[in-house]
Amino acid sequence: MERIVEYIWIDGQEPTKKLRSKARVLRDDHKVLGLLNIPIWTFDGSSTSQAITGSSDCFLKPVCKFPDPIRGEPHVLALCEVLNSDRSPHPSNTRAHLVATEECLKHEEALFGIEQEYTLYDTNGGRPYRWPEERTAFPRPQGPYYCGVGSDEVYGRELVEAHLKACLKAGLMIAGINAEVMPAQWEFQVGPLPPSAVADQLWLARWLLYRLGEDFGISAKLSPKPIDGDWNGAGAHTNFSTKGMRDPGGIKVIEQACAKLEAFHKEHMRVYGAENERRLTGKHETCDINTFRWGKSNRGASIRIPLHVVEASCGYLEDRRPAANMDPYEVCRALLETVCGNGFKG
Ligand code: ADP
Ligand code: MN
Ligand code: MN
Ligand code: MN
Repeated sequence: MERIVEYIWIDGQEPTKKLRSKARVLRDDHKVLGLLNIPIWTFDGSSTSQAITGSSDCFLKPVCKFPDPIRGEPHVLALCEVLNSDRSPHPSNTRAHLVATEECLKHEEALFGIEQEYTLYDTNGGRPYRWPEERTAFPRPQGPYYCGVGSDEVYGRELVEAHLKACLKAGLMIAGINAEVMPAQWEFQVGPLPPSAVADQLWLARWLLYRLGEDFGISAKLSPKPIDGDWNGAGAHTNFSTKGMRDPGGIKVIEQACAKLEAFHKEHMRVYGAENERRLTGKHETCDINTFRWGKSNRGASIRIPLHVVEASCGYLEDRRPAANMDPYEVCRALLETVCGNGFKG
């Protein structure tokens, strides 16, 4: 029997990497029992900003696989790392760095939960989905849209629901979804999971969103500030804990972590997403990009300690700085190396 494997990888575009994928048909003699049975493959790196034309082959090394919720059984989605022709990690392969850090700091038992905000657009990409061309005809000001219901307040739920179901069918650890503060803006959460697992699953969930968007004629974008002016930006709040933070009295460890994070604010901002300065203005539930502030239950802080964590004296912290378009391999590594390692050098 034939099995279709969709090889999914992250390209080398700067400043924001994008997803790519291509399908391969494996036949009976190639039983896809485990990951090892999905063979390494090659692609044209000169078409993805990952190689030059004269020496264009890069390798795709499958690193995790999930049932394909779109094609159904027995087809699979395989997330891949990109390797150079000598099989070393390609410079764009940020996953390899995270896996190395994760291995060194395993005893910390770190967990992450990422809130991915995104904005839906018509396929022409001009304005958010169902927004008019004319600025004067834009939806009335923010207020009723967050967690709203009704077609005058939420735009694009048909895709959002299909995406949620597809993620669950693929076995991704989706924690929830909600409509956001700006109409046509949404959020899903992945986790809590260990570092590389949360990042792998976030990239796969993004891929499923783009892929299903094709069927609905809607395109999702991760721009940190889709509409200038009095409209919320889109972030990727990153919730983070270690075993020490989750243990009774762990709030002390959380507070120590905040002090460490403050010392590396500038270094973090380099990997927290492109154009984040347009979003982190100090308005719209953000702290401005040049200031670091942590606070209990404060949505205007860089790092927020949720109220239920304060009450329980243990749990996790929320880093509100990452932009929607960030690379989760980089953000998880920044947090791990800063809080559990010797600091983050980029
Ligand atoms: P918010 O109130 O900021 O909108 P959400 O409910 O959207 O919060 O997201 C919070 C996320 O925190 C959840 O999706 C979950 O994955 C994550 N989370 C919960 N507990 C932990 C933990 N101990 N460590 C890391 N992440 C956690
Ligand atoms: Mn949220
Ligand atoms: Mn949100
Ligand atoms: Mn949040």
